[in-house]
Amino acid sequence: MPHSTHATSPIIGVLALQGDYASHAQALQDIGARSLLVRTKEDLAHVGGLILPGGESTTFLKLLAREALFEPLQQFVQMRPTFGTCAGCILLAKKVCNPEQQSLGVLDATVERNAYGRQIDSEILTEETSLPGGPLEMVFIRAPRIVEVGDRVEVLARRDGAPILVRERNVLAATFHPELSEDRRIHRYFIQMVEEMENKGHRAQPKQTPATKPTQANL
Ligand code: GLN
Repeated sequence: MPHSTHATSPIIGVLALQGDYASHAQALQDIGARSLLVRTKEDLAHVGGLILPGGESTTFLKLLAREALFEPLQQFVQMRPTFGTCAGCILLAKKVCNPEQQSLGVLDATVERNAYGRQIDSEILTEETSLPGGPLEMVFIRAPRIVEVGDRVEVLARRDGAPILVRERNVLAATFHPELSEDRRIHRYFIQMVEEMENKGHRAQPKQTPATKPTQANL
């Protein structure tokens, strides 16, 4: 029996409003993980972790508003394991520039959109990461650049000095597209994050924000 049918393995959600969610679902299937395409607030309740795929972050924002998913998603990402790739990384950042835009605000980073040029300038590089197993192929497509990170952000890989794979507590983010390469180390790493949080029986506490108005998430 494939590992995917093991009832105790976590279900990994893939936000399926737009972008290359099908490639993430395939990557999860490749490594025998259970997955669920997430399109509604109800779907979110069934997943142990969530992948926000690449695509177009402005389109994600429009669709999240249309589906009334922005706030449920914001609550999810504050507490539960979440992995954002490319546009997903932009959505997770605290601050977005070029131009400024709304975001979920859980990754203590400033992210500059389309920082490496136009679609035609997209490229495939092989870089070192702090994951075991040697250099990793990385597909960059109209990628953002992480221009600043906070102290609690762990940098797992860099490109020309700029972080390209980072982790802050329950949040993992890549400015490239690991789902488009054959190497599944980053998806495995994320599943390990989900399993560790589930095994500890601990879900990260909502972050304390300096907001004057309490939100449901930090009460
Ligand atoms: N350029 C896109 C944006 O700014 C991201 C591209 C991608 O996800 N491959 O949203």
